[in-house]
Amino acid sequence: MIERTLSIIKPDAVAEGHTGDILADLEKAGFKILALRMTRLSQAQAEGFYAVHRERPFFPSLVKFMTEGPIVVMALECENAIARLRELMGATNPANAVEGCIRKRFATSIERNCIHGSDSPETAAVELRYCFSTLDLL
Ligand code: GDP
Repeated sequence: MIERTLSIIKPDAVAEGHTGDILADLEKAGFKILALRMTRLSQAQAEGFYAVHRERPFFPSLVKFMTEGPIVVMALECENAIARLRELMGATNPANAVEGCIRKRFATSIERNCIHGSDSPETAAVELRYCFSTLDLL
C-alpha cells in the first residue's frame, strides 16, 4: 500500500552536516519527497508536535533539543512508507540500533537521535497536517 509519512532531520544532524547524507539514504531507499522545508521550531511548536510525550520526564529536554537549531521537515511517500522509514531509522536509542541504519550512523544518544519518523498511519496523518498544508504536497 502506498503511504505517506512525516520525517524530520533533527537539529543535531542538520548542525553536524548530515542533511545531504540522510536525504540520499531516503531517496536511495525509494522514498519520494512530496514536500521539504527547513525551519526552526518555536517552543510552542515543539511542545505541540511532541504533545503525546508531555508527561514523560524527558519532555522539557526533548523540547529544548528540538528548538536548538534548524530542522528539515519532509513529507515522504512510498510503499509501506511508515514501517519502511522506521526500519531505515533504526531503534530510538542508537546503542540498540542495527548496523547501517540512519540512527546507528548519525545519532549520538537516545535523545539526539538525528531523525524522526511517524509511528503509525494515525500519527502520520496528524503530523503531516501539523507541518504541511495540502497545497504543499506535490
Ligand atoms: P521515536 O518514535 O523512535 O522517535 O521515539 P519516541 O516517540 O519514543 O520518542 C520521541 C523522541 O523523544 C525520541 O526520538 C528521542 O529524541 C526522545 N526520547 C525518547 N526516549 C527518550 C529518553 O528516554 N530520554 C531522552 N532524553 N529522550 C528520549
